[in-house]
Amino acid sequence: MEIAVIGAGPAGLRVAERTASAGYETVVLEKKSVIGKPVQCAGIVSPRVISLTETNSVVTKPKKAIIHSPSGNELVIKAKNDQAIIIDRAQFDRELADKAIRAGAEIKLASPVKKIKKSSGCGKKIYFSHNGQKKTISPDVIVGADGPGSIVRRSEKLPSPDKIMPAVQALVPDEGKDVHIHLGKNVAPGFFLWDIPSRTGRLIGLASSDGNTFQYLQNFLRSKGLEKKVIAYLSGTIPLGDMVESVKDDLMLVGDSACHVKPMSGGGIYFGLKAADMCSDVLINAIEENDTSKERLKEYHEHWHNDIGKNIMRGMRARTIFENLSDEDLDKMIQMFQKERTRKVIEEMGDIDNPSRLIKPLLKASPDLLKFTGPVIKSFF
Ligand SMILES: Cc1cc2nc3c(=O)[nH]c(=O)nc-3n(C[C@H](O)[C@H](O)[C@H](O)COP(=O)(O)OP(=O)(O)OC[C@H]3O[C@@H](n4cnc5c(N)ncnc54)[C@H](O)[C@@H]3O)c2cc1C
Repeated sequence: MEIAVIGAGPAGLRVAERTASAGYETVVLEKKSVIGKPVQCAGIVSPRVISLTETNSVVTKPKKAIIHSPSGNELVIKAKNDQAIIIDRAQFDRELADKAIRAGAEIKLASPVKKIKKSSGCGKKIYFSHNGQKKTISPDVIVGADGPGSIVRRSEKLPSPDKIMPAVQALVPDEGKDVHIHLGKNVAPGFFLWDIPSRTGRLIGLASSDGNTFQYLQNFLRSKGLEKKVIAYLSGTIPLGDMVESVKDDLMLVGDSACHVKPMSGGGIYFGLKAADMCSDVLINAIEENDTSKERLKEYHEHWHNDIGKNIMRGMRARTIFENLSDEDLDKMIQMFQKERTRKVIEEMGDIDNPSRLIKPLLKASPDLLKFTGPVIKSFF
């Protein structure tokens, strides 16, 4: 039984480690020549990611987050516990790759997959190149972990994300320990701008819903006198939506390729790892039962859909509310959050993996918030 995992990001590497540990021949095809580079991530994760992976890649545990409203009001949130941890994403991916290799998986770098086709037998054939040479393999099962633009998803005509948001970040040589979030239609419409410490400086980045992402970043850097200090720009995309299908006969999607991403923050590491565990558990059982049909693999789709899928659906609804807020609304909301009672709810109950958990207690602490939410809020109760 051979399993081909396409994509050596966190989701694919986690699946590969687990299927190889279970004794199945596992090959990972990765288009990049170096694991984890270039980095397309800010590296903010919850403590759950640290305990799940036992990673040594932690850079810092910020104690303060400052949210800047469009008019410049500041909401200062002091973390009671470690709510957000910053990791070195390249090191994180390398550690996951080492674990997969130690478990027995083979990782083929510089191996972009071009297409997947039904082979003359009953299975599928993967067309890829390796060090410039055309190659094919016909594994028994394919796991598509090839990120937001997934060739596996497209080749197999599985549903596309509802939205793919472009994101870009700049690395600047600056110090500072806190996390800053900036809101507003002129800063990052439909999303937010982050300014966070990293191992090599500060990462200032944003996503936006109107496609002018790079221009917004330039505007912000210019306003802070940082545009000439940029060491590197890093860009990527964030897939958003609730995927209604993620399996086919002998094939599964996991991680960004299946939109396992938190819609409000764009964070996908935790959901991708969680889904990877569900994916490998179902796959290993299915192989042992000698049945990797779509019907059998659907158990995986149901597992993740009943778990992180609920958060994704709530996050998409919260996103609808957020996208409809004017700058004036955001200013007023930040003012409400500044009240001690409301701020305490955020400090004590904040959970970056499940932000919609805050909605009920926030509304209890500050019922005026209902003014901003519109009828969509009913679907949270
Ligand atoms: C700017 C930015 C900042 C982010 N910040 C955060 C954050 O702070 N915290 C967080 O949790 N998430 C963050 N994310 C999201 C996070 O990076 C992703 O959710 C996460 O990387 C998904 O993991 P994955 O393994 O599914 O996919 P990826 O990490 O994207 O890995 C997919 C792999 O597949 C490879 N691949 C793609 N196509 C092919 C092909 N045809 N053949 C072979 N290989 C292929 C790619 O090279 C890549 O290595 C951010 C995303 C962006 C764009």
